[in-house]
Amino acid sequence: MFPAKIEKYVRPQSIAEALAALGEFEEGDAMFLAGGQSAMQAIKSRMLRPECIVDLQNISELKGIDAAAGGLRIGAMTRYVEIAQSAALNGAFAALADAAARVGDRQVRNRGTIGGSVCWNYMASCMPAVVLGTNGTMNLTAANGGERSIAADDFFLGPLETAREDTEILTSVSWDAPVSKTGSAYKKWGLVTDALPVVGVCVRVSVGGDGTCSDARVSISGLAGGGERAPAAETALLGSDGSTAAIAKAMDAAAEAADTHSDMSADADYRRQLIRNLGREVAASAFARART
Ligand SMILES: Cc1cc2nc3c(=O)[nH]c(=O)nc-3n(C[C@H](O)[C@H](O)[C@H](O)COP(=O)(O)OP(=O)(O)OC[C@H]3O[C@@H](n4cnc5c(N)ncnc54)[C@H](O)[C@@H]3O)c2cc1C
Repeated sequence: MFPAKIEKYVRPQSIAEALAALGEFEEGDAMFLAGGQSAMQAIKSRMLRPECIVDLQNISELKGIDAAAGGLRIGAMTRYVEIAQSAALNGAFAALADAAARVGDRQVRNRGTIGGSVCWNYMASCMPAVVLGTNGTMNLTAANGGERSIAADDFFLGPLETAREDTEILTSVSWDAPVSKTGSAYKKWGLVTDALPVVGVCVRVSVGGDGTCSDARVSISGLAGGGERAPAAETALLGSDGSTAAIAKAMDAAAEAADTHSDMSADADYRRQLIRNLGREVAASAFARART
């Protein structure tokens, strides 16, 4: 398939230049390009017909992983391969590395970025669900220089929809420093290894001094509505001892409450069973990471 005619292609060196290039066109006529792993398919199929492409790959201020002071900031143009291999992403942030290590195939991981994934917010994507499950914040800059930060709970509005305005650039995703003894994990299941998930589950838990769960977030990828939290599982985990029985009860609750759908990849019951099985595995892993 061939794209519609693209009038202009620019490769700015800074965020300010990128926003200025976008502003030369009517809103919606120019678009950012990150790794191109979703955008190029949409452009080739003419789902998107941009007049101008603003390629972000030369903007060094959008790249890198900064784990200073216990928190975490990942530049929007940081590629999956760097996230998967980062030694900083353990404990509370290990789910990010779990997800990045299995997104697509090697080619997708070498090109695709965390920023592109959260801005595209494809329904089956791993990274939006993991950012939701780990309580990330999206940091945006507008053409007038104005900055705003949006919590994941408010950023992801539904498949292919986010709270980002067309005139804003995502500069980074960040996380507050977690309380000590916090661990997270993510695992997906797909029809083909390293393909988009049919279902994925992310769990982040904190463990208090008495060994019980003091905070829990659970999110699911692959639902028709996109990445969603699983409040029933979070409530069940909170205050529990993180035992096999407690985790099983929580993931049964997640599976029962989830609005699963049937399609050619799996039916609704099969998706529920995946939530149970994957959920048990990742919750056990998250508790183990929290305790070490
Ligand atoms: C074969 C294949 C397998 C895949 N498997 C998986 C998988 O298993 N799990 C998974 O989660 N995903 C998977 N994906 C999707 C992949 O994760 C994409 O990389 C991701 O969806 C888009 O990231 P990107 O950097 O390529 O962004 P692009 O495709 O370049 O951009 C996506 C969108 O985000 C916008 N955008 C990008 N960066 C910014 C920014 N900084 N500010 C504002 N807007 C921005 C663009 O304008 C565009 O609208 C797969 C893709 C392919 C091709």
